[in-house]
Amino acid sequence: MKVYKFGGASVKSAAGVRNLQRIINNENEQLIVVISAMGKTTNALESVIDSFFNRKPDLMKNVETVKAYHEEIVSELFEDRTLIDTLLGELYTKLYKIVEGQPSNNYDYEYDRIVSFGEMISTTIVSTYLNKEEKRCRLIDVRNCLKTDDNFREGNVNLDLSEKLCHAAFTFTDVNCYVTQGFIAGTLTNETTTLGREGSDYTAAILANLLNAESLTIWKDVPGVMNADPKRYEEVVIIPRMSYKEAIELSYCGASVIHPKTVKPLQNKKIPLFVRSFIEPEKQGSVINEFHEKVQMPPIYINKNNQVLLTLRPRDFSFIAEERLSKIFSILASYKLKVSLIQMSAISFSLCVDYNVAHFNALISDLKDEYEVLYNTDVELITIRHYTQEIVDKLVGEKIVFVQQRNRTAIRFVVPTN
Ligand code: ASP
Ligand code: MG
Repeated sequence: MKVYKFGGASVKSAAGVRNLQRIINNENEQLIVVISAMGKTTNALESVIDSFFNRKPDLMKNVETVKAYHEEIVSELFEDRTLIDTLLGELYTKLYKIVEGQPSNNYDYEYDRIVSFGEMISTTIVSTYLNKEEKRCRLIDVRNCLKTDDNFREGNVNLDLSEKLCHAAFTFTDVNCYVTQGFIAGTLTNETTTLGREGSDYTAAILANLLNAESLTIWKDVPGVMNADPKRYEEVVIIPRMSYKEAIELSYCGASVIHPKTVKPLQNKKIPLFVRSFIEPEKQGSVINEFHEKVQMPPIYINKNNQVLLTLRPRDFSFIAEERLSKIFSILASYKLKVSLIQMSAISFSLCVDYNVAHFNALISDLKDEYEVLYNTDVELITIRHYTQEIVDKLVGEKIVFVQQRNRTAIRFVVPTN
């Protein structure tokens, strides 16, 4: 059995859905197809959530935008609309029932139950389309078998329970192909949760792990894993083979091609990950796997945007000792902030974290109790793995460097965003 994952860009239009069909038609093996919300639907639903939660007047207009976008795709894909209209109608009725009610005071809970409609709609459209001629694929509501705790917006998967439920759901007894949602999951009491933005890759990796897939293929709008973001740099190359370790480091540094949590479930069961282009599906793309020989790497460079550099100095001139560090990290953890770089001296501690506007002021005021706090918002973290002096000069050149770190494999710079 193989797992295929299609992201939002691959199913952003009717042509995208037809292309997905062509790709899976070329596969003779048993298949689980994991799909994200179409195009930018998740962003559009975030506007719905914001209007709903903050009781803004544009709420219904935002819902209509989501509906109209899907309507256009559906009208291109289906001549006979009886079934698809019934199925989507049921989903929209549920969505209206939520948004016409009152929000609870738990934003993250409201977020998950609304944002999940993106994946529910996309998988309903795709599976109905694939089954137009003959019953080919079964649609599975992943919330019934991928179980998390109630940490809304970043659910922690209960692997033991999910394993049992997934084995019971994906039996392959009378079909060769299942379609299911990425990103979303469910609690024990059947509330909807999500696994964090861009979490569909992670869903696909977990399903591959739990069901012992032979491989996972992520179909992307890039030809494979590149040594730099092709949207940002001109001379980029594909990396045909890469170790799990390299891949996990890259994604952690901010390479958006793979979600950082995707690698572990695959590595744990030695399941190869293929990254291939849905635009040129005949090409090989990249494979991430365990390699026994050393795999040569070109310089790889990654910009992690939207960072903030914080520098903390104890007000009483005391050392940055271990107890202090543990307190600082528990404050950061309470804001669910992800630390991307740290550096310390006797009485100062600097770190880069993702800039989260919503909680920033509260964070600073928590830290200010004991520290003088200096910060730069608008910074980015540049990581160059397998660096050469030439590439460092090219990327960093005349830039002001706030922090620099280097080891044998990688060099990192915190610089102002251009
Ligand atoms: N649709 C979700 C998002 O855009 C999940 C994903 O695409 O992986 O964040
Ligand atoms: Mg998406």
